[in-house]
Amino acid sequence: MERMATAPTGKAPAAVFTGDVYMTPITVPTPPSRLFASLVRFTPGARTHWHSHAVGQTLYVTEGVGIVGTRDGGLIRIHPGDTVWSPAGEEHWHGATATNLLCHLAMLEWKEDGSDPTTWLEAVSEDDYRAANQQ
Ligand code: MN
Repeated sequence: MERMATAPTGKAPAAVFTGDVYMTPITVPTPPSRLFASLVRFTPGARTHWHSHAVGQTLYVTEGVGIVGTRDGGLIRIHPGDTVWSPAGEEHWHGATATNLLCHLAMLEWKEDGSDPTTWLEAVSEDDYRAANQQ
């Protein structure tokens, strides 16, 4: 057992996030564990690009108000204490609302070969994001 060092907070890459997003890693996979967990803070208006996770993903909201969207038009408004499960391979996005911060824990497993399970796609359009905020 050991207390791990606190990892530095980094800016999430603009290539796959829109707006200002800060990530603080909690744990990276140490075999045989494949768990990756991170505290993600989205400023108002910030969100991920569309993406999917090969082994699924659990989000747990710690602060603020956010939105999760799926390709079938599904939109879920999320609040502190909410848990959201994204099944393996389901294309989705998540982020803050236009008017509030969102902080969530993101928990996902690496693939069995040890590689990153996330497939990144295109940005969520301004029109789609605006519509999601009006739900
Ligand atoms: Mn995700």
